[in-house]
Amino acid sequence: MHNDSVDRLAKLFLKFPGIGERQARRFAYFILTQQEGYVDSLARALVAARTHANTCARCLRIFEGSVESSGGLCNICSDEHRDQSSIVVVEKSQDIESFNRTDYNGLFFVLNGLIPIVQKDIIAGTNAQKLIDRVRKDTSENVLQEVILAFPVTPNGEHTDSAIRELLSPISLDLTITSLGRGLSTGAELEYADPASLEASLKKRE
Ligand SMILES: [Zn+2]
Repeated sequence: MHNDSVDRLAKLFLKFPGIGERQARRFAYFILTQQEGYVDSLARALVAARTHANTCARCLRIFEGSVESSGGLCNICSDEHRDQSSIVVVEKSQDIESFNRTDYNGLFFVLNGLIPIVQKDIIAGTNAQKLIDRVRKDTSENVLQEVILAFPVTPNGEHTDSAIRELLSPISLDLTITSLGRGLSTGAELEYADPASLEASLKKRE
């Protein structure tokens, strides 16, 4: 039997991270068997999430909220009480949530991906150039003192760590570049890190 709706839905679910063909079809059939009310709220929630999502002009994270009142900045970047002298650089927006459960009170930057080991051009494909520009500007204004690299403990994560060090270290002799200390499990996604281990690895940064 040919089923256009299932095919179309499955194709969309296939784009979700970690979802394969079989799971995508399972989700599609799930939708088809749900009550009208559920499907309608799901559709509305999807559209609403998209409408309310904005990218912060400074840290480049996806956040929910208006950009008009804050000049394009998220609630973290527009908070003057936060320590402006340090930036934690993460792979993706949701990693910031883990840091918000710790004592860390500085700023952030979202690289939006990792730099694969096989990639020759280390600037392409992520926000690396925007990070360089921001660090350059913030150090020249004598605001920024430390950049903390917080990538996952995976081969691509470690490669990204050394590539970003290579890009940032020529900017200023006064800038300290550190990485999270060991203590987070190997291969673990930062977004799942528990606050205590994350805080410990922040303290042990080197
Ligand atoms: Zn921001």
